[in-house]
Amino acid sequence: MGELYDLIIAGAGPAGLTAAIYARRAELKVLLIEKNYISGGQIINTYEIDNYPGLPGLSGMDLATKMSEHVDKYETERLTAEIQRLDLAGDIKKIETDKGVFEAKSVILASGNSPSKLGVRGEEELTGMGVSYCATCDGAFFRNRTVAVVGGGDVAVEDAIFLARGCKKVYVIHRRNELRAAKTLQTALFACDNVEMVWDSVVTEISGKDNVEKVAVSNVKDNSTSELEVNGVFIAVGNVPNNLYVPGGRDKDALKEGELLLDAKGYVVAGEDCATNIPGVYAAGDIRSKALRQVSTAVADGANAVYAIEKYLVGA
Ligand SMILES: Cc1cc2nc3c(=O)[nH]c(=O)nc-3n(C[C@H](O)[C@H](O)[C@H](O)COP(=O)(O)OP(=O)(O)OC[C@H]3O[C@@H](n4cnc5c(N)ncnc54)[C@H](O)[C@@H]3O)c2cc1C
Repeated sequence: MGELYDLIIAGAGPAGLTAAIYARRAELKVLLIEKNYISGGQIINTYEIDNYPGLPGLSGMDLATKMSEHVDKYETERLTAEIQRLDLAGDIKKIETDKGVFEAKSVILASGNSPSKLGVRGEEELTGMGVSYCATCDGAFFRNRTVAVVGGGDVAVEDAIFLARGCKKVYVIHRRNELRAAKTLQTALFACDNVEMVWDSVVTEISGKDNVEKVAVSNVKDNSTSELEVNGVFIAVGNVPNNLYVPGGRDKDALKEGELLLDAKGYVVAGEDCATNIPGVYAAGDIRSKALRQVSTAVADGANAVYAIEKYLVGA
C-alpha cells in the first residue's frame, strides 16, 4: 500500500473543491479523486449560475474553472479515477478505484447526484437520440425544432427557458397544475410565446425509429391520452444520489460495521458538521441528506466538513 493521506475527497464538484481548498490551507495531506476529466460536477453543464453570491450571471463552466484553479493554487494532489468501493471499518479507510487502492485517516464523500430517469418505454433506447438530461449540453442540436421538457422544478423551467431561445416550440409537461420552480423563473417562462404548458400530465412512452418522434402523454386527472410530435425530450424530474460505491443501509439498527446510514432516498445521513455515523467519514454537498441542494449549500458543506475533520484528526 502507498502513502497514508490525512483526507481523501471523493468527487470534485463544488463541495469537494471547497473541501480541498480548506484542507490544503489547513496543511492536510489530501488526495482529491474525480472520475471526470473536468472538475466542477453538475455546474459544468449549467448554462448560468445566477444565485451564487458575488458572481451573478456567471456560466457554470466559468465558475467550475475558477473553483478548480483555486484548488490548484494550493498544489492539491489530484487523481482522475472512479471510486468503486469503500472499506470504512477501522481507523484507516480504504478507497478502491479503477486506478488502485488508496488509504486515508478520513474521507469526505462529495460525489453529488445525477438526474432521475422517467422509467418509461423508449427512454433508454432513445437516450442520445433525442432523449437528454441536459439542455445546456444538447439544446443546440434542436435549433428550430420542437421539444418537450418534462418536470416542474427550477431545473425543468430553466431548461425550458433556455430551449425556447432556439427551438421552434417547447412543450412543458408537468404532472401537476402549478410549477414548483421559483417565481422569477415562472415569470420568465410564461413570457416565452413559443412555450406551451401541458398540465396534469405524465409521459407514458417515448417513440421514434432512429430518433425521437413522439411522446405519449396521459392526463392524470381525466385519464385522457394524447401524442405530441417532438424531436427531443429533455427530462428534469429530480435526482438520485451517486452512492453506488457507498456501503450503507436505511435501517439504523441493522447496519453492519463500516456501513453508513442512508435516508429513504439513498442520501447519506449527516448533520451540519457533515459527520456520518462512522467516525472519520463525512458527507458533503448534494450526496448529503438535506433540504436544499445548491452550489452555496455544497460549498458550505465542504468547509464545515474540513473544520470537523481537523478536530477529528487531533482527537479533539
Ligand atoms: C441543470 C442544473 C442547473 C443547476 N443550477 C443551479 C443554480 O443555478 N444554482 C445553484 O446554486 N445550483 C444549481 N444546481 C445545483 C448544483 O449544481 C449542485 O447543488 C452542486 O453542483 C452540488 O455540488 P456537489 O459538489 O455536492 O456535487 P456535484 O456537483 O454532483 O459533483 C460531484 C462530483 O463527484 C464526481 N463523482 C461521482 N461519483 C464518483 C465516483 N464514484 N468516483 C469519483 N468521482 C465521482 C462527479 O463526477 C462530480 O464531478 C444545478 C444543477 C443542475 C443539474
